[in-house]
Amino acid sequence: MKVLVPVKRVVDFNVKVRVKADGSGVDLANVKMSMNPFCEIAVEEAVRLKEKGVVSEIIAVSIGPIQSQETIRTALAMGADRGILVQTDQNVEPLAVAKILAKITAEENPEIVLLGKQAIDDDSNQTGQMLAALLDWPQGTFASELVKDGDHLLLTREIDGGLQTLKLSVPAVITTDLRLNEPRYASLPNIMKAKRKPIDIKPIDEFGVDITPRLEIVKTEEPAGRKAGVILESVADLVDKLKNEAGVI
Ligand code: AMP
Repeated sequence: MKVLVPVKRVVDFNVKVRVKADGSGVDLANVKMSMNPFCEIAVEEAVRLKEKGVVSEIIAVSIGPIQSQETIRTALAMGADRGILVQTDQNVEPLAVAKILAKITAEENPEIVLLGKQAIDDDSNQTGQMLAALLDWPQGTFASELVKDGDHLLLTREIDGGLQTLKLSVPAVITTDLRLNEPRYASLPNIMKAKRKPIDIKPIDEFGVDITPRLEIVKTEEPAGRKAGVILESVADLVDKLKNEAGVI
């Protein structure tokens, strides 16, 4: 079984982002970039499936600037076999990403496309669902457990008030949730080995997909600062404030 894992290069989750002075977006100059955490979980899951003998080949694919090669190298160091970089300096919205991934899927014929449930930069949570629709494949989103069951996949999802288990036929699109696994750190020997694994770099024009943005960012704002708290004298004061200031009781 072949698995395609799309991995996105995003601002590292530890970075406190700054909004640009003109509000047009966040400042990316000299900011640490890393693999999107949900994509790391997807790579880890693919590697675990390979270790169990369920999967034979893992292809990591990224759409982005030339530096996204580093993100692909991280996936290769974790255990992916080869990479594809679709190179562009433009911001590519989820629909265009999904269309490009659909074309790569048609070329590579994987049985599973394993994506993150969302990219933490734009928080879209759209690409996997759009890809499943374009391919007309079953989708299992927000997976917190994934097991092979004969010719099918059993996928557990955390939903309000419990767990839902889906049985999917392959080929299928799967997206990962936080509790699916804890991604490994790549060992030094595997980082060295990853340098020799192939990455195929393709210009985005080759795919014939219109990547013109459909959305316009109107404004980006810092979250409002939190107000200082107050220490109250008595329960009666608290009830008074909840009733007359917060209006919640
Ligand atoms: P989103 O729909 O943008 O929140 O992203 C969901 C998932 O789609 C990510 O976790 C990735 O697996 C995949 N994805 C989105 N954008 C890209 C990209 N530019 N390159 C590779 N994968 C992507």
